[in-house]
Amino acid sequence: MQTFDPVLLEQWDRQYVWHPFTQMQQYVQEKPLIIARGEGSYLIDVEGNRYLDGVSSLWVTVHGHCHPALNRAIKEQLDLIAHSTLLGLANVPSILLAKKLVEITPSGLNKVFYSDAGATAVEIALKMAFQYWQQKEGGRHHSKTKFISLAEAYHGDTIGSVSVGGMSLFHGIFRPLLFQCLHAPAPYCYRCPLELEKDGCGMACVDRLEELMGKHHGEVAALIIEPLVQGAAGMITAPAGYLRRVRELCTRYNILLIADEVAVGFGRTGRLFACEHEGVSPDLMCLAKGITGGYLPLAATLTTDEIYSAFLGKPEECRTFYHGHTYTGNPVACAAALASMELFEQEGLPGTLQPKIELLRRGLESFWQLPHVGDIRQRGMMVGIELVADRETKKSYPVQEQVGHRVILEARRRGLIIRPLGDVIVLMPILTMSEGELNNVLEITFESIAAVTGH
Ligand code: PMP
Repeated sequence: MQTFDPVLLEQWDRQYVWHPFTQMQQYVQEKPLIIARGEGSYLIDVEGNRYLDGVSSLWVTVHGHCHPALNRAIKEQLDLIAHSTLLGLANVPSILLAKKLVEITPSGLNKVFYSDAGATAVEIALKMAFQYWQQKEGGRHHSKTKFISLAEAYHGDTIGSVSVGGMSLFHGIFRPLLFQCLHAPAPYCYRCPLELEKDGCGMACVDRLEELMGKHHGEVAALIIEPLVQGAAGMITAPAGYLRRVRELCTRYNILLIADEVAVGFGRTGRLFACEHEGVSPDLMCLAKGITGGYLPLAATLTTDEIYSAFLGKPEECRTFYHGHTYTGNPVACAAALASMELFEQEGLPGTLQPKIELLRRGLESFWQLPHVGDIRQRGMMVGIELVADRETKKSYPVQEQVGHRVILEARRRGLIIRPLGDVIVLMPILTMSEGELNNVLEITFESIAAVTGH
């Protein structure tokens, strides 16, 4: 393979590439880290330096980088065909994968609609839910056009998924472009939006949600939620029983439940899907990220026979779901996903994760020694460590101090790649990391926080 001078690559990166979610003025002043290859739990840069991948690239890698079984499946499919459309045609891997997804997801999800990113999976769920109510029972429910989501929600960056987003930092500027969405308080117990204490609040945030539903159910098509963990908001973990109550309310008020499992799906929380923890079957489920083991872009929106059947009818009734992307159901991506599902079975995932989850939990206890650790939130293999200027008052650091960013630069110097969400240090280890590697992730993170915030 052709090799390039790392200095030239750095120059071209600064000159030509606009990086996502990145303040470019700052980025071009720092030395870019250019990854050349991956090996198991490690990323290796163009200068040959090795880094533990503490965030699974971007919360996607499941079985490790450059896994021979995944590489083989992709190469074998490439020798058959790289792409064939699902518009009017079918292809072999997309059929096999759809069958598999229906088998492994919560009961009732029987139809699979493919796309290629988490945001498009969400966009599709929103449009399906909307169109369902327009068509059901001859349009009797046509006033159900709005959505409910949670404050601090993150569902992707397309206009529809931003409309149901609730993070003012990411979404505020786009407000004039967005459709209307009703927001319920997030179950953010560390900074309760209702200013209550976790013990004894009786999940008052769910009561607020019920009030909202009671008032607006006639105009609400669906509620969208990140089950168990609001990831991008800083790993906000919902209390036990929260999701089940949300499901019950959706059923009671005739509102569809969209579970956005883009971040939490495929083993992240210790179960294959987060909804399983509370025995919840949503009406629509969005999957992406880990679906291909983190190898190729692919997403899926799953739904029920009830919703699907509202789209059946004679051509003149125009009940077609007019949505599709060119690369929808790409056979190479579907082949990677099928190989990833096989690995789940062979590696006994997610069942075998429990000791690793426990190792993380125990290791994180020592982080309380660090005086600027305000909160530690863990759900399975997802961790958020919230750093604060003052633990007593929970006062945040001034934004310009960029504490989170400085911590991850320290970690990088020590051989660990992580990415913060503001001042929340995120750990999303690859599910197949060894216990030794997990201990290294914890150790380097601890040292890096200590180096920036003091002991
Ligand atoms: N939903 C959730 C819960 C996410 O965390 C993300 C991405 N972090 C998305 C949707 C969007 O996925 P993508 O970046 O693949 O569009």
